[in-house]
Parts: sequence; structure tokens; C-alpha cells
Amino acid sequence: GELTEEVDVVIIGGGPGGYVAAIRAAQLGRQVTLIDKAEVGGVCLNRGCIPSKALISAADRYEAAHESLFPGISTTASLDFSEVQKWKQSVVDKMTGGVKTLLKGNKVTVISGEAFFVKPDEIRVMTEVEGHNYHFEDCIIATGSRPIELKSIPNSDRVLSSTEALSLSEVPKSLIVIGGGYIGIELGQTYAKLGTKVTIVEGTSSILPTFEAQLSRLVLRNLKKYNVDIFTDALAQSVKETKDDVTLTFTVRGEEKTVTADYVLVTVGRRPNTDELGLETIGIQMAEKGLIAVDAQCKTNLDHIYAIGDIVPGPALAHKASYEGKVAAEVIAGQHSIVDYRCVPAVVFSDPEIAVVGLTEEEAKQAYKEVVIGRFPYAANGRATALNADAGYVKLMADKESGLLVGAQVIGHEASNLIAELGLAIEMSATLEDIALTIHAHPTLGEMVMEASEVALGLPIHVL
Ligand code: FAD
Repeated sequence: GELTEEVDVVIIGGGPGGYVAAIRAAQLGRQVTLIDKAEVGGVCLNRGCIPSKALISAADRYEAAHESLFPGISTTASLDFSEVQKWKQSVVDKMTGGVKTLLKGNKVTVISGEAFFVKPDEIRVMTEVEGHNYHFEDCIIATGSRPIELKSIPNSDRVLSSTEALSLSEVPKSLIVIGGGYIGIELGQTYAKLGTKVTIVEGTSSILPTFEAQLSRLVLRNLKKYNVDIFTDALAQSVKETKDDVTLTFTVRGEEKTVTADYVLVTVGRRPNTDELGLETIGIQMAEKGLIAVDAQCKTNLDHIYAIGDIVPGPALAHKASYEGKVAAEVIAGQHSIVDYRCVPAVVFSDPEIAVVGLTEEEAKQAYKEVVIGRFPYAANGRATALNADAGYVKLMADKESGLLVGAQVIGHEASNLIAELGLAIEMSATLEDIALTIHAHPTLGEMVMEASEVALGLPIHVL
């Protein structure tokens, strides 16, 4: 027969789940082999979080210059999108290069190829030219997800997934976005700021349907400022493509409409990469929607096989994948770690940004007898006003009886960074009083966290 190589820990997939698990398992003394069929860094670094944030920051700079957004400052901006794209790629290359260096420095063996299970303790890895088998002690599956295509609207030259939408060589004159989730909103708003006429077609009754309505309202208002057309309760039916453009037919509560644009971007969700791994051959138990069932140690029904990231239930977010990667690595290194999902932040890098952590208002009210809420507006914060960014608020939810912070929401400038303190507060069981008594530097956006606590305690200084 063919030679089978003996390895210790095998990790399939080098995204933010897999590469983090690899580093942590190596730090804890295991010999790690990491397999990826593409670039390390996964979706997040190569075609997700990082390139999208790079384009968002370019669009923000362009908009600020182009629209002369700052009182007293006017400029004439010009845009060379191919240069922006080159810079975006350099950002991606720096980050994936960094991951490669870290893997090497931690003595992780990286193998390029596509892996699938042939036995419960053996995988086969295919490169373009050959296959090779590895017998392992423990395995972490971290194969991530890919965009869902609509059956009626398959990808084509003018029907794009997020991957292609991030890599357009020119700013399109017009763009239709099917799906008003965070990816659709981030990309739609980015192109709108770069001058594209954007139309968003969302199936539910509001954009960002997984967030509370109050939060999406400010984003909605801003999108309208960029002349974005938004259709909700709208179901995409079909497209008709010509050499120069594409026409989408959709229905809004039964009424048929059409819109024509340069491109259609489909962002209607992601599908776990679990269908070509041979999971059925080795009897891995599945959860709903092609996800792998795992316990609180990220362990599958097979004792030595773990699964993390977008292929297991929970929010499909990079930081959640990395967190699970650390837990799984610790468990295979003999530690008694378990996952705790109380504090998984979720951020939309829209304008303004939305960031939440812990319970929603509704969940808090269900979980506790009485909930106190403290809300502090950006408009009452000196730094926000001096930044000319005074839209938004910080909202805290606490258990009245104990004063424990149980949930937080921020919408506004730098919400993505402000949410970190609130996650730590919940994680460390901080009370409103703890937060209110923490001296925050003046003038900073962080003061709003302190002041929202004071509002909840009924002792606000800077609001009435
Ligand atoms: P992935 O990152 O998907 O990595 C899986 C890896 O496995 C890939 O490298 C793939 O090549 C490899 N692989 C798959 N099958 C095999 C196989 N059989 N053999 C070998 N290798 C295989 N999340 C955030 O938290 N913040 C954001 O701002 C954010 N923005 C996003 C923007 C966009 C446009 C998109 C699409 C996603 C965004 N996400 C964001 C989501 C984030 O990218 C994912 O949640 C994250 O990448 C999941 O990590 P993972 O390790 O589970 O898998």
C-alpha cells in the first residue's frame, strides 16, 4: 500500500479558527500540521474582514475629502481605484505574511492541499499532482464557509459574491445588493461612498434584521443620504444579463419591480464547508444546516476530532472562530477549557458603526425581573462633538437587583472599539457602579461608557 505519514495534531483549514488553534496547540507542546487548500488566513484575511475594512477606510477617506465633510475644510479629491485595490492587496499580503511567520515561529508544519477523511484517524490530502495520507492523534476541523448562491440567480460575469465585489477593478456606476445583512450593508455603503448608485433588496422587513430596529435606523438614514435605494420585504426573482448590464426582477409584497445596474452582488448568507470532507464516512454527527455538532469543548461525537468556527453553530464571526480555536487547542493539550458565549461581540462596520455584546434588551428583560437601562448620546460627549461625529449613543442594560451589566449596544463613531470595554465589563461581572467609578480619560469617547452607567444609576452629570 501507500505510505501513511504519522502526525500528532492535524488542523484542516488555516482561517482565524485554524491558524489560531495551530499556534495555541504548538505553544502547549503539541506537534501541529496545518492544512489549507488556499492561502493561510482563510476568508477573514483574504476575502472577508480585512479587505472589506481596507475598502471601507478608503471609502471613508474619499468621502471626507470629496464631500468636504469637515466644516471649514474643502478639498478636491480624486480617486484611482486601481491604486486603492493595490493597497488593499498589500494590506492582505502583510497580514497573511504575518500569519505565515507566526506559524513558522511556532514550528507549525503548513501543508498546501485539500483534505478529507478516509478513516476516523486518517486524512488524505490532495494537491494538484498527488495525494498523501496522514494518520493523526487529534484533529481540529476548521474549514469555514463560502457564500450561498441563489439558485435562480447563479454567479456570472455580472452577478457577484462578496469575494468578487471586494476585487472589482473599477468603481461600478451602479450596483444592486441582494441581502441587507452586515456584509451587504458594509459593501453597499462602501461603494455608495465611492460614487456608485446602490440599490439594496432585502427579503425581511428591515436591513440588518439580526439587530434591534433602533440600531439599524441611524444606518438607514445615512444610507439614504448616499442616495441608496432600499427595498425591504423584497424577494429577488431572476436576472437578465446583457453585455453591458444586468436587470434584476424582484417582488415587493407581490408587486413586481425591476432595476438595472452594472452588477448584482448576492450576499444572502454563507454555507459551511462540510460537504466534501468525508464526514459521513467516519460518522461525524451533524447539527442543523450542514453544521457540525460539538460540545462545550468543541469536540465532535468522535473523541479525538474537534470542530470550530463557521462550520459549527453560533455567529459566523472571525473572533468567535479564534476563540473556539484556543479552547479546542487547550483541550487537546490536556486542559479543562470550555467555551462561554456570554460575550461574543458583533460589529457592523457601517457608517455609523454598530456594536453589541451580551444580551439584547428583550433577552435581558426575559432573563431578569427588572432591567435598568442607561443611554448616553454621542451629542453630549465633548470628544465626539470635537470629532464632528456626534450621531449615535451608548446603551447599557443591567440587572436592577445586582447592578450587573448584562448587555451593551453602541452605535456611532468607533463603536467597534468602544464595545471592547463593555465585553470585558460583562466578562468580569462588573456592576454599573464599577463602571461609573472607573475614571475615564477626558475628552474621550470612552467617557460615554461611564456616563451611560451613571444614567442607569439615576445620577447622570452630562444629560438631564
Ligand atoms: P475560514 O476563514 O473560512 O477559513 C477556512 C479555511 O479552510 C480556508 O482557508 C479554506 O481554504 C480552508 N479549507 C476549506 N476546506 C478545506 C479542505 N477540505 N482542505 C483544506 N483546506 C480547506 N467576521 C468578523 O468577525 N468581522 C468582520 O468584519 C467580518 N467581515 C467579513 C466580511 C466578508 C465580506 C465576509 C465574507 C466575511 C466576514 N467575516 C467577518 C466573517 C469571517 O470571515 C468568518 O467568520 C471567518 O473567516 C471564519 O473563520 P474560519 O476559521 O471558521 O474559516
